[in-house]
Amino acid sequence: MAPEGVHPDERLGVDDMATRREEEFRQLAMRSQAQRAAAESAEPGTCANCGDRCLPLAVYCDPDCRADHERRLRVRARQGGAAR
Ligand SMILES: [Zn+2]
Repeated sequence: MAPEGVHPDERLGVDDMATRREEEFRQLAMRSQAQRAAAESAEPGTCANCGDRCLPLAVYCDPDCRADHERRLRVRARQGGAAR
């Protein structure tokens, strides 16, 4: 019974689990932040990406437009955050 032989994954303590959950939570928060930014810049019923009419409460006409617009928002946020 050598302690060194224990696989790292089998030794996940409470701290490790908390770290994992924190990481998941952070990614979730970042994603919803991007979605919130997208929603704020859009009018429901109008696609925020191409300006087409869409479902009354939708801000994108299709998933492609959503992905495209969210990507542009992220780029803009990155460029805006950097001084140059
Ligand atoms: Zn669109």
